[in-house]
Amino acid sequence: MTATKKGEFTFSPEALREKYRIEREKRLRPDGNTQYIPLQGVFEDFDKDRYVEPGFTRPALTEKLDVLIVGGGFGGMLAGVRLRQAGVNSFRIIEKGGDFGGTWYWNRYPGAACDVESYIYLPLLEETGYMPKEKYAKAPEIFAHCQRIGRHFDLYKAALFQTLVQTMDWDEGARRWNITTDRGDRLAARFVIIAGGVLHKAKLPGIPGIETFRGHCFHTSRWDYSYTGGSPTSRMTRLADKRVGIIGTGATAVQAIPHLGAAAQQLYVFQRTPSSVGARNNQPTDEAWVKTLKPGWQQERIQNFSAIVSGLQQDVDMVQDGWTSIFQDTVTQQARTPEEKAELRQLADFRKMEEVRARVAAIIQDPVTAEALKPYYHPLCKRPCFHDEYLETFNQPNVQLVDTEGKGVERITPTGVVVKGKEYPVDCLVYASGFEVSGEYTQKLGFDIRGRGGKSLRDSWAKGPATLHGMHSRGFPNLMPFTTTQSGWAINFVHILDEQSQHAAYIIAQCLQRGVERVEPTEQAQQLWWEVILGHLQKGVTFGGPDCTPGYYNNEGIKSGPEAVRFATFGGDTLAFIDILRAWRQSGELAGLELTRGEASSHP
Ligand code: NDP
Repeated sequence: MTATKKGEFTFSPEALREKYRIEREKRLRPDGNTQYIPLQGVFEDFDKDRYVEPGFTRPALTEKLDVLIVGGGFGGMLAGVRLRQAGVNSFRIIEKGGDFGGTWYWNRYPGAACDVESYIYLPLLEETGYMPKEKYAKAPEIFAHCQRIGRHFDLYKAALFQTLVQTMDWDEGARRWNITTDRGDRLAARFVIIAGGVLHKAKLPGIPGIETFRGHCFHTSRWDYSYTGGSPTSRMTRLADKRVGIIGTGATAVQAIPHLGAAAQQLYVFQRTPSSVGARNNQPTDEAWVKTLKPGWQQERIQNFSAIVSGLQQDVDMVQDGWTSIFQDTVTQQARTPEEKAELRQLADFRKMEEVRARVAAIIQDPVTAEALKPYYHPLCKRPCFHDEYLETFNQPNVQLVDTEGKGVERITPTGVVVKGKEYPVDCLVYASGFEVSGEYTQKLGFDIRGRGGKSLRDSWAKGPATLHGMHSRGFPNLMPFTTTQSGWAINFVHILDEQSQHAAYIIAQCLQRGVERVEPTEQAQQLWWEVILGHLQKGVTFGGPDCTPGYYNNEGIKSGPEAVRFATFGGDTLAFIDILRAWRQSGELAGLELTRGEASSHP
């Protein structure tokens, strides 16, 4: 299993298959997702918004609206933009944070950046006249772009920041949603869009003794610069005399660790499963290239990327990066049968991971550390990472990898972290332990939704949701959630959010123009949509398959019950989902939706 010369590997697929199986077995645990604990009770402070001045107040509002949008991240902002473009201006955006940005508002940890190319990830570049500074944008630039979108499309005047929805009830008589908030607002909205995000609720590892730690600690999504010193763009000066531990080595930790390594007196990295870390090769934006761009370039590039990472052949690979190379390797093989295709794909996957492991061996000086940092699973079992300083950090004398060999941290004490019986004393402990993914939808939102006849969405979806396009559910008229459940998914997730936004804006604008006060999917439409999804599911999964090492992509390796299957994504590729939505809109029939017209105008 060694590299011979560039691009060529000799390895035994059987031996690798066995090694992957052994590494997976080490990590399987019966408690699955319940190994994690939410930021509640004694852990409530972990969720505190560190970026706002305390004591914010504003008068409570009583308003009638065409649309209420929940969430001010890219999903909610794009919904607002697409509504304005469709001529719908009576809307509000409710957001928990103190500004727009969602993920990019909360995640200000050192080194935070986006792994997806900036020219396709940052939406509305042509509309706002902005060009990112680098091929991969750092978090402050992305957050600033969110604010730019807010200003450009006049979204700030619609925003209710630092506000949480408390109740959401459908009023069948008025054909409106009644919403109350923790700021005392009472809103009556004809339509509701929920763009709550998919990775917005941080979680902690349920390590015995976690509540006993007496040093300083925080989660990466609420970075405490008042303790570490520095800022997202400057060195953390107050760590120079501190022993710091970080638990987790996922995509977040990979970005934060080089900065902690540069600043801390001593850094311990507690690893359960190594990430796969390819080269980043970030580059400043090429001004000469920018001059060649023609109107419409961004959508063309977004489309090209999503096609390639969906495994579709394209004449050119515009983005040409680590993501597209994972998929290009597999599609360039001309297989004659599905079996041959699967076999070639597996070989390509082995080859890709051999490259990743060879990169570790080439960079890491200590052979024991190098072996521990090599990931043994297929490329899409966990989120692939790309970074040019992460591995190098482990060559520093003040940085120690504490590998738990797949078992996780054993115990946390008042003064440190215990692995294999040895205590590592730390002053500060950073949890890079990720976000809730599989939990119940309304529980993650923080409020239940009561539809027709007081029916609870929580109860209704407990046995598995039924939807049309993942965007309408019978019993919940005029409600459009943006989720991945029975809906599209994309590596460039903003691509899907924009399509969902355009879809929702189209339906709402059509209803307002046609005097339709109420839309609800038929049972039959939901059933037909489910059959479309089933058809795709039977073709197999790309990310986090059942044979993968545990993680949030595969429900921590626990086989799901039959109801969980109904939470699956659309299953086909990104562009197939988008094409279905576009064709549906183009027909203009609002097919599968029951429409109820009102006598009066639907404008308040
Ligand atoms: P992840 O869920 O990916 O990582 C959590 C980490 O904590 C894993 O390494 C996990 O190990 C580890 N862990 C959990 N419990 C224990 C334990 N008991 N002992 C030791 N280690 C433990 O969260 P992230 O915040 O890193 O990333 C979440 C997602 O956010 C990414 O997948 C990605 O989608 C997104 N993201 C995107 C970025 C981008 O560039 N666009 C950048 C950063 C994040 P194990 O793997 O064994 O479970």
